[in-house]
Amino acid sequence: MKQAVNYPQAGASATIRPMNADTRTDKPQLPELQLKDLQNLIQQWGQPRFRAKQVLDWCNKGVLKPGEMKNISAGLRNTLNAELCCEPLQLIRRECSTDGTRKYVFALKRKRFAGKMIESVFIPEEKRGTVCISSQVGCVLDCPFCHTGTQGFEANLTAGEIIAQVLAIKADLRAEPLPDELHSDITHIVYMGMGEPMANEAAVFDSIGLLMHENGLNISRRRITVSTSGLIPQIQRLGDIHPVNLAISLHSAMDDKRDTLVPINRKYPLADLRRCLDAYPVGKQRHITLEYVLLDQANDQDEDLQALIRFVNPERERINLIQFNPYPGSPYTGTSRQHMKEFAQHLISKGIRATVRRSRGDDIMAACGQLKADTKADTKADTKADTRADIKGSS
Ligand code: SAH
Ligand code: SF4
Repeated sequence: MKQAVNYPQAGASATIRPMNADTRTDKPQLPELQLKDLQNLIQQWGQPRFRAKQVLDWCNKGVLKPGEMKNISAGLRNTLNAELCCEPLQLIRRECSTDGTRKYVFALKRKRFAGKMIESVFIPEEKRGTVCISSQVGCVLDCPFCHTGTQGFEANLTAGEIIAQVLAIKADLRAEPLPDELHSDITHIVYMGMGEPMANEAAVFDSIGLLMHENGLNISRRRITVSTSGLIPQIQRLGDIHPVNLAISLHSAMDDKRDTLVPINRKYPLADLRRCLDAYPVGKQRHITLEYVLLDQANDQDEDLQALIRFVNPERERINLIQFNPYPGSPYTGTSRQHMKEFAQHLISKGIRATVRRSRGDDIMAACGQLKADTKADTKADTKADTRADIKGSS
């Protein structure tokens, strides 16, 4: 049986908000059980061990309700319902963008955090389908250009809640696939939703293990990306334990500016980050991504460009220039499209791989940095959002 997880503190820093302790008095969550855990449980309940594989096969299809697991006996269905939290998330609403992107709002069910909301996004493309998942309610850090950061920290997700986002989206895509020209299968996972994944290390590492496991979704580590603002000890452990793709929220290669834009830089400055990135295992043909949201006047000047050129290691890293996604009350303005192109061109002329990321789902506030779920279930807001999605004709 899986032990309760003790969530580590994300490294004491003036910029990290205190966390709520999670006592985990709730029932074990079905999506975070490995095959052997479930086999042992099912045996304890007096049922044959092979039933565990049948249950997990349903889970992997996105079917978490025991009542819908057709080849399972009524007795086992009842026991699963009684002993486990089979569906750790409740789907509150879904919004569909004109570009096919779907944003999902889920509520947690755990006793202490019941009703707290997280958001996840599915981004379909021609040849891939990417799920962007949350790792925390709110964020433990407070980058001033990020909507999630303004929400404050409310809870760490469990591995079960992280995996349940993927499974719920899988079920939704099966029930309502996208038009043929877009991918309706989940091929890639990015930890780029709400929260700082490296500040919820134990649950995030467990969830990566479950996603990659052959009895789980069996997703290759080359198709999983963890985005982090740069918590160095955790990145080192990620490289040792689950060397998935790494994306770093860089946003400035000058310490004084990064101290403001990404406040964790005060604890882990650029020189330390440089050493950490040099040591991170990167497979053949793979790169570390440096994410750089271009903010008018704040980090898009010539001195910023020159510092970035000096910082990046073009052999192992590429730069993803991100258009700033505004949100109500955001204190920054995005760099103009033209200037973004010029900034990219300068980098490319120095032999640096640089791309400008196309913003997806911004009409439904599903783009990077726009995620910020209300923390209380608000039926009026839900209705409004549903109506908005209905108007777009796809919800
Ligand atoms: N906490 C992690 C992952 C979640 S944020 C991290 O910071 O990496 C995912 C990405 O969205 C990060 O690169 C983040 O810097 C970026 N982001 C945050 N706010 C944004 C905004 N308003 N516009 C564009 N990108 C934003
Ligand atoms: Fe948290 Fe990432 Fe937003 Fe910073 S950018 S506040 S680390 S979610």
